[in-house]
Amino acid sequence: MKDISDSGFSTDCHKASIMQFDRAADMMELDGELRQWLNTSFRELSVRIPVTMDDGCVRVFSGYRVQHNNVRGPHKGGLRYHPGVSLGDIRGLAAWMTWKCALLDLPLGGAKGGITCNPKEMSSGELERLTREYIHGISDLIGPSKDIPAPDINTNARIMGWIMDEYSRRQGYSPGVVTGKPIELGGSPGREDATGKGVSMIVSRWAEKENRRLDQTSAAVQGFGNVGYHAAFHLSRLGCKIVAVSDSTTGIINKDGLDVEAAGRYKKDNGSLSGFVGGETVDQSEVLTSKCDYLIPSALQNAIHGGNLEKLQARVIFEAANGPICPYTEPKLPERGITVLPDILVNGGGVTVSYFEWVQNIQHFQWKDETIQIELQAVMYRAFDKVIALAEKRNISYRNAAYILAIDKVVQAGHLRGIYKSRS
Ligand code: NAD
Repeated sequence: MKDISDSGFSTDCHKASIMQFDRAADMMELDGELRQWLNTSFRELSVRIPVTMDDGCVRVFSGYRVQHNNVRGPHKGGLRYHPGVSLGDIRGLAAWMTWKCALLDLPLGGAKGGITCNPKEMSSGELERLTREYIHGISDLIGPSKDIPAPDINTNARIMGWIMDEYSRRQGYSPGVVTGKPIELGGSPGREDATGKGVSMIVSRWAEKENRRLDQTSAAVQGFGNVGYHAAFHLSRLGCKIVAVSDSTTGIINKDGLDVEAAGRYKKDNGSLSGFVGGETVDQSEVLTSKCDYLIPSALQNAIHGGNLEKLQARVIFEAANGPICPYTEPKLPERGITVLPDILVNGGGVTVSYFEWVQNIQHFQWKDETIQIELQAVMYRAFDKVIALAEKRNISYRNAAYILAIDKVVQAGHLRGIYKSRS
């Protein structure tokens, strides 16, 4: 998905991930060969996916699976269905998974998959055939100890169930090949709302650090899908006033606080927020620049760019989406007094509970929801505290601190495995 940065260039997730990596690698004084190893995908597969549509015609879709790095464990990463999916975006999203898993100290590497399609124009049958054919194309690459997909934009538990079934037909019963499955198929309690729940944990830990009570704060949430809705829901339950929400069709602002559950029910029943009467209707882009303490972009990459930088009113941005800030714009945010908590920390709750799901599948034993919540909070708080401590110690941004911690873990594992020989 492209967007125009303030310098007039388009940037994809790969470019953004390299720019972020380079800033941290410069601070770490990493040598060129090590950078090349860390910056390059281990494997990239493009597949053509023929699908018989409901009207009998055959359409051929493009799909991708990129495996970035597996030095710390099997590749792990979501599967995105969107008309804007490109290999460049999937490559960057795969790298972000490597850094996220390392920062959270999960024994997993990074990967990402995607299919260029518009699921909103496809029937359930067409989506199922598309998913099964895609798995046929990539089945040699995935597996419980190789690469484990999960949900991302426009994919959900139902699609993960088809993936589990299609893979298991070939390889035998393999629930651990994919996470984010329905509970009945080996899914985990707490996985569906895990990313949004994790976002709310990071926001509340931040408020605690600022010595603020969450019930004295307000937040605007861009994107009202899995991540955005659950982040808004959990934050509102903790007392934070949700003053604006948006989806791809519209924005809703209510400075007295929105009824998040009513908005969620409306979206579920009507397919979008369009027509929801719980606040003033605005263009969805206005939600990003609405008055609030905390801005939580939870949709696509490059939502915050040179075109809306000057209008931002939030003091802190929590990146619930992957790559929501254009990398050319980010260095200008501190001048505007805006702090950024980076995606590889903020949205890590999803992959954390995916990891718990995978562990449960390997154990063939289901954990209690209570256990999941305790363990999730421990992982999120531990990573948050490490990032804050390093950033404060070295007087660097939270993103640079998060990258330094993550890169260091991957480099150490690489050295210990002998994959990358240290010269020192
Ligand atoms: P989703 O498909 O469930 O929801 C996406 C939402 O964004 C939808 O409500 C859509 O209408 C909205 N949207 C799209 N364009 C928009 C625009 N221009 N303005 C406002 N809203 C817009 O997807 P999701 O799973 O919630 O993923 C959202 C983001 O979070 C992505 O960047 C994804 O990579 C990231 N993420 C997801 C997970 C997960 O567990 N699902 C985990 C980590 C990160």
